Amino acid sequence: MDTPVLTIPAIVSAIGDRKLSAAELVTAFYKKIKAEDGEIHAYLTLCEDRALEQARNIDALASRGDTLPPLAGVPMGIKDVMVTRGIRTTAGSRILENFVPPYTCTAVERLEAAGAIVLGKLNCDEFAMGSSNENSAYGSVRNPRDKSRVPGGSSGGSAAAVAAGTAVATLGSDTGGSIRQPASFCGVVGLMPTYGRVSRYGLIAFASSLDHIGPLARTVEDAAILLSVIAGHDPMDSTSANVPVPDYRTELQKPVKGLRLGVPKEYFGEGLDSEVRSAVEAAIQKLAAQGTEIVPVSLPHTGYAIPTYYVIATAEASANLARYDGVRYGYRSKSAKTLAEMYRKTRDEAFGAEVKRRIILGTYALSSGYYDAYYLKAQKVRTLLARDFQQAFTKVDAVITPTAPTPAFKLGEKSADPLAMYLADVYTVTADLAGIPGISVPCGQSTGGLPIGLQVLGRHFDESTVLRIANSIFS
Ligand code: GLN
Repeated sequence: MDTPVLTIPAIVSAIGDRKLSAAELVTAFYKKIKAEDGEIHAYLTLCEDRALEQARNIDALASRGDTLPPLAGVPMGIKDVMVTRGIRTTAGSRILENFVPPYTCTAVERLEAAGAIVLGKLNCDEFAMGSSNENSAYGSVRNPRDKSRVPGGSSGGSAAAVAAGTAVATLGSDTGGSIRQPASFCGVVGLMPTYGRVSRYGLIAFASSLDHIGPLARTVEDAAILLSVIAGHDPMDSTSANVPVPDYRTELQKPVKGLRLGVPKEYFGEGLDSEVRSAVEAAIQKLAAQGTEIVPVSLPHTGYAIPTYYVIATAEASANLARYDGVRYGYRSKSAKTLAEMYRKTRDEAFGAEVKRRIILGTYALSSGYYDAYYLKAQKVRTLLARDFQQAFTKVDAVITPTAPTPAFKLGEKSADPLAMYLADVYTVTADLAGIPGISVPCGQSTGGLPIGLQVLGRHFDESTVLRIANSIFS
């Protein structure tokens, strides 16, 4: 069975027609994972018995001739920052090494209710903090397209599993680019929905005002199908929006002709790799040839996005990570003699260097005396960044940019230099700060054969247009 070329509609119809058994499909995926994932290291935990049982249930439905749910039998992987009842969930951290959650994340619950089968949990940077997956406490992930390179981060396992064909699709999370940047590095599609479009209930919090769940898939159509399943209001998340969810797959049929596409000059300046630039410019020409109007625009505050993001994200992280105290969850230091020592040693022994760096930075930014100078200032700049997009969207229907300034870099290349690593997100953090949707879609490759991603950003809740444009480049 050739697992890598399967798409969601192909699987669901083959299972419905009894040409394919979900149980056999799941077995084939585990075989591939066991043969190939040792080197890639996308998976942290497998849940084989549970997956096979779900697959047999799907086969039973199909044999009765029942109408199958939209993701019937689709083998998926889930980034290990989404809690899954009864399946170990680590967030890529030692502090949650043995944590088995008592409930399931809403997005995962919706996938399973639609018939998807969770194969296992995927490697990621610790608490989703990183751009290369090298901050995982369980070891790096290798990019399936070039194993000497990183898969991107923090959803590195989610992108690598799709690229390696060890999952048909996956869920990732994006706080500053962690769905789109790894999608770009691994040559797959990664969609970050509007803030509030997909419930965050059961997503282990990094920076609550920036965290998003979204799909990574081999095709834009698969990403569209998945978004229709996971999107929509959830009473368990007070920031989840009560906005109707379109059938995104149908929306893909609409032509792109007549759309106005903004090309922001700030995303094509210094630091942009020349091959990435040419691939993105060629894709823009392709869009123009399909009858879109290409409009130069300016997003003047873009240069402030990285420092703004790293103040707000670390401030929120410092508060969110206070809950890991050795009492309520996971790891507890064995050598401590007093309560205060237990807190200190637990956090010292079980958090990695990047997580500690961010807790310190975020605590500092929130401390009295510095709050106004850093945190409050960053919130004001965030508003300016959001206004840049509002302005642009009065003139254009979407904005087109590169996803990342370079193709995938080498393992170890930036791990000693946090600031160089932070710049890998220079084109993605703006959308998180503004709360708008964005997608990365493969648009070419470097002379060395590394994938290059193009990013489409859209208006709040207008994932339809974003998907439609991405699809017209992809197909
Ligand atoms: N790379 C960014 C960071 O390290 C983004 C992470 C993310 O989107 N989860 O914070």
